[in-house]
Amino acid sequence: MIIVLSKSVSSHDKEMIRIYLRDRGFSVRDQTFGEDAVIGASGKGAVDIRELGLLPGVERVAATSKPYELVSRETKAEDTIVTVSAGPSFPGVKIGGSRITVIAGPCAVESREQIMETAALVRESGAVMLRGGAYKPRTSPYAFQGLGMQGLEFMKEAGEAQGMPIVTEVVSPELAVQMKDLTDMFQIGARNMQNFELLKKVGSLGKPVLLKRGPSATIEEWLLSAEYLLAAGTADVVLCERGIRTFETYTRNTLDISAIPVVKSLSHLPVIVDPSHAVGIRAKVSSAALAAIAAGAGGLTVEVHPRPDQALSDGPQSLYPEQFERLMRDIEALAPVVGKELLRTPRPGAARTFHAGAVSSSGVSGSPREPLPAAFCGENGAFAEQALTRVFGEDMPRLQVQSFPGIFDAVLEGSALAGVIPVENSQTGSIHENYDLFLRYSDIAIVGELKLRIVHCLIGDERASLDSITIVRSHPQGFAQCKEFLEKHPQWVLEPATTTAGAVASIAREGALKVAAIAGEAAALAHGLKVIKAGIETNPLNYTRFVIISRRIGDKAPVPPSLGSGAPNKASLVFSVPDEPGALFGCLKILSDRGINLSKLESRPIQGKPWEYLFYVDVSIPDTAGDFEAVITELKTKTRDFHHLGAYRASL
Ligand code: PEP
Ligand code: MN
Repeated sequence: MIIVLSKSVSSHDKEMIRIYLRDRGFSVRDQTFGEDAVIGASGKGAVDIRELGLLPGVERVAATSKPYELVSRETKAEDTIVTVSAGPSFPGVKIGGSRITVIAGPCAVESREQIMETAALVRESGAVMLRGGAYKPRTSPYAFQGLGMQGLEFMKEAGEAQGMPIVTEVVSPELAVQMKDLTDMFQIGARNMQNFELLKKVGSLGKPVLLKRGPSATIEEWLLSAEYLLAAGTADVVLCERGIRTFETYTRNTLDISAIPVVKSLSHLPVIVDPSHAVGIRAKVSSAALAAIAAGAGGLTVEVHPRPDQALSDGPQSLYPEQFERLMRDIEALAPVVGKELLRTPRPGAARTFHAGAVSSSGVSGSPREPLPAAFCGENGAFAEQALTRVFGEDMPRLQVQSFPGIFDAVLEGSALAGVIPVENSQTGSIHENYDLFLRYSDIAIVGELKLRIVHCLIGDERASLDSITIVRSHPQGFAQCKEFLEKHPQWVLEPATTTAGAVASIAREGALKVAAIAGEAAALAHGLKVIKAGIETNPLNYTRFVIISRRIGDKAPVPPSLGSGAPNKASLVFSVPDEPGALFGCLKILSDRGINLSKLESRPIQGKPWEYLFYVDVSIPDTAGDFEAVITELKTKTRDFHHLGAYRASL
C-alpha cells in the first residue's frame, strides 16, 4: 500500500501516520515518487483505507496488493483442478486444467420423471454432471419455489442412474447442513454470492462449491467471496460467470466474456460459464457458450429441458435436447483449437471395462488393483504426453518408452494398459512407421483417437532472447512446420534432433544460452525452460492425430472410459487387393452400399513387394449401417492381407 502525503504534511503528521500503520501490523518506509513524498506500507496489516485517507497529511492511498490471498495466482501458480465425486463407485468429474467439463440439466427439479428423463438425455449427449434446483431463489414469492429435499432426492437418484455427480443451489446455512449428504457439489447462486454467513457455512462443509458471480459484483468482489469459501476450509471452488447487469435489456444479463481471461490470470481456481442465465434467450445460448469456450472457460453449466415450453422455471432459456446435442458436437470440434479436450466419463456399467482387473483376469497383468500406466514415446512434455493427459487425465500413471515398438510391446506384455501412437499430421500426412507396427502386432487394436493441435514455441534458457540465439534444435518436422518464422532469422544454424521434446531436454542439460529449441509449451514447462516466442508454426491449423491402442482379448479390447462408451462410429482398415480390374472398386462398393463414408483412402508401397500397394482406409460408420462385422466379413472376401485395426469413437 502506498500513502501519498500532501505537500504541506508536517513531520508530526507524518510520524502519526507511521505509528497508525505500525499499530495495525504494517512495516513502513519513507520514499519519494517523482515530486511526491510517500510512505510505503507492507505486510499483513489490516486497515480501513477510507479511514487512513482521512488522517491529517494524507493526500490519497493506493492499494498495491490484492485484498484476497488464498484464491490468488500469486499464492498458487498452477491451476487448481476440482474433483466432484458421487461416491466411491462412481468416477470423479474433474473441472479445470486442459479439459472442458459440461454440466447440464433443468433449471429446477419439477418431478421424478422430469429429472430422470433430462438426466438421461443430457448424458446421452455427453454431459458429465447434472444440474438442477431443488430450492429456487425466485424474484417473485409467487413463482415456483422448487420441490425442496424431495427434489434433491429425485436428483440424486437421477445422477446415480446416469453416473453423474450432481450440483444444486443451497440458499441457507441450515439447509447446507441438511443437503450435505445428498448433493455432490453446492451451488451458491448469483443472488447469494455475498451472503457471507452462507459462504462460511458451506465452505466449512468440505464439499466442492460452484460459486456464481453476483449480477452486480465486480471481479474483485467475486474473488473475495471465493476467498471466504477457501478461508472456511474448502479447497474445491469453481467460479461461474453467469452474466452481469448492464444497461442492455435485450438479453437477460450481459455475459462478461472478458472476465474469463481476467479471472484466469488473477486466480488459480477453475472458471466455467453459465450461458443460459447470462443470455436468457434459448436461440442465443449456444453462441454464447462457444464464445465462452473460445475465451478459455474450463466448462459450462447449461439449462436443458425435455419440453422447455412446459418448464416451471426458465423455459425460454432452456435448450431443447437436440440443441444441446448440437452444442456438444460444436464444443468437441472447438476444443482442440483452444488446446483442450471435452471431458467424458464412463456411464454406469461401462466403468469396469478399463480397469487393470479386466485385463488381468485374462492373465495379462499380475496385480488386479494396481493401476497400470499408459505408454507414450518421447521425453517429458512431448506432444504424445499431452495427448495422453488429454485422454486419461493428469492422474494416469505414465510409462515413458524410447521407441514406438516399445509402446506396442508394453501394451502386449501388459506392463501398460494402453498406448498413445501418433499416426498422422494434418500437414505432413501419415506416419507410415507406425501403421506398419499395426500390421506386425495383430493382437493390438485401436480403441480411440485424439486430434491434438500442435502449437510450436521457441524455447530456451531463462536468460535467452531472440538476439542471444545462434543455434536452433528440433525434429525436422518442427523446422518444416515453422519455416516462415525461421526464414526471418537466416543466421540461425538448425540442428536436427530425434524429437522436439528431446531438443528441449538437451538444452536443459547443457544450460546453453545460445541454443533454443522448437517444441510444445509443455516441454518447456517439463524441463524448466522459458518460452521465448509462442505460436511460431506457419499454419495454425496444425493437428496431429493420435490413436489409443489396447490389447485385444478375444475379439474385444478394453476402451478407456474417457473416450466415451457409445457405439463405435469409425474404423481403420488396411488391406491390399488382387491385381485385376475393379478390385478396389468392388471393396468401396461394399461400403457405399451400406451408406458407409470413406474418411481416408491412401495407398503406399508394400515393403519387399515392388509395385504392390496397401490401402489405408478410415470409414465413418453410421448408426444405420447395420452389423459392421458383416461388412468386414464381406470385405475379407474381396481383399488380400486384410487388417482390421479397430473400431472406435471418432474425435471430431
Ligand atoms: C441457477 O443456476 O439455477 C440460477 C438460479 O442461476 P443464478 O444464481 O446464476 O441466477
Ligand atoms: Mn434457471
